[in-house]
Amino acid sequence: MARKVLVLGEVRDGTLRNVSFEAIGAASLAAEGGEVIGVLIGENVSSFGNELIQYGADRVITVEDEKLKQYTSDGFTQGLLAVIDQEKPEGIFFGHTALGKDLAPRIAGKLNSGLISDVTAIDEAGGNLVFIRPIYSGKAFEKKIVADGLIFATIRPNNIEPLSKDDSRTGEVSSLSVEIKDLRAIIKDVVRKASEGVDLSEAKVIVAGGRGVKSEEGFDPLNELAKVLGGAVGASRGACDADYCDYSLQIGQTGKVVTPDLYIACGISGAIQHLAGMSNSKVIVAINKDPEANIFKVADYGIVGDLFEVVPMLTEEFKKL
Ligand code: FAD
Repeated sequence: MARKVLVLGEVRDGTLRNVSFEAIGAASLAAEGGEVIGVLIGENVSSFGNELIQYGADRVITVEDEKLKQYTSDGFTQGLLAVIDQEKPEGIFFGHTALGKDLAPRIAGKLNSGLISDVTAIDEAGGNLVFIRPIYSGKAFEKKIVADGLIFATIRPNNIEPLSKDDSRTGEVSSLSVEIKDLRAIIKDVVRKASEGVDLSEAKVIVAGGRGVKSEEGFDPLNELAKVLGGAVGASRGACDADYCDYSLQIGQTGKVVTPDLYIACGISGAIQHLAGMSNSKVIVAINKDPEANIFKVADYGIVGDLFEVVPMLTEEFKKL
C-alpha cells in the first residue's frame, strides 16, 4: 500500500544529523512506493532541504520562525501539527534522539496515535511491515506491526542504512507559514560544555573509559586513540561518578544508548547497566586487567592487560594504517 510519510529532519550545530537520513531510509520502506516528505522546523533551516532530497525525500516542507530557533516541545509541536494537518500523512518518522524522544510521544498523544519507539530494523512478513525494537535493556527484541492507523516510529541512530546520496535528485522545498503562539518556555541561552569531534550517539567508533582510567588525565590515551580512529570518547557511570569526565559521556541504562561499528571498552567491568547502553554495538573490544571481568562475556575481542600499556600500543599501530 503506497503511503505518504513525513520525516522530521534534525539540524544540530549547523548540520543535519545522520539519523535524519536513516529515518528517510526507513520512511521510504514504509512509504512502499508512496511519497516521503522531509520536514524542517527552526530558523533558517530551508538551506538543508536539498540535502534531505538528495538522501531520498521527494519534497521538503519547512516551518521557520525566530521562536523556533531553539528546540522547545511546545514550539515544534505547533509547527509539526500544522504540517500534519496540511499533509494528512499515513506515516511519521523521527530519529530516536533527545529531541525525537521528547517530541514524538507528545505528537502521538495529540493525534491519539500509537508510537513504536527506538526501532532498530524494519522487516516484512505476510505483507506487513515488521518493526523490530530492543526490550529489557537490549536483552531481547520485539517485533511489532501496525494493524491500524498511523505508522509512527522513532529510529535508533546507526542501525538503519540511509539510502545512497544522489546529488542529481531534485524536489520542491516549500515553506508553510505557521503562527507560533506564545511558548510556555523560552530558551534564552544554551551553554554547552566544549566538546570536540564526533557526536557520541552517532559515532561509528567509540573508545569508552571506566573507573579503570583512574583520573581525568587517564582519559588522555583514550582521547588519542579515538582521534586516530575518527571516533568519540564515552564513559561508564563509574568514571562519571568519580569525576574523571562529564556525565554527557555516560553510556548505559541511565546514559546514552549507542550502537557504533566498533566499541572499545577500557577499564570497564561490564555491569548490566553499562551493557544496556552498548551491547548491541557491532564489534566490541574489551581491555581489562581482570580476566574474569563481565565485559569479556559480551566482547568479540578481549585483551587482558593494563589499559595504560595496551591503548597507546593500539594507537601507534592504527597510526601506521
Ligand atoms: P568498576 O566496576 O569499578 O570497574 C572498573 C574496571 O576497571 C574493573 O573491571 C577493573 O578490573 C578494571 N581496571 C582497573 N584498572 C585497570 C587498568 N589499569 N587496565 C585495565 N583495566 C583496569 N553504569 C553505567 O556505566 N551506565 C549507566 O547508565 C548506569 N546506570 C545505572 C543505573 C542504576 C539504577 C544503577 C544502580 C547503576 C547504574 N550504573 C551504570 C552503574 C553500574 O552498576 C556500575 O557501577 C558501573 O558501570 C561501574 O563502572 P566501571 O565499570 O567503570 O567501574
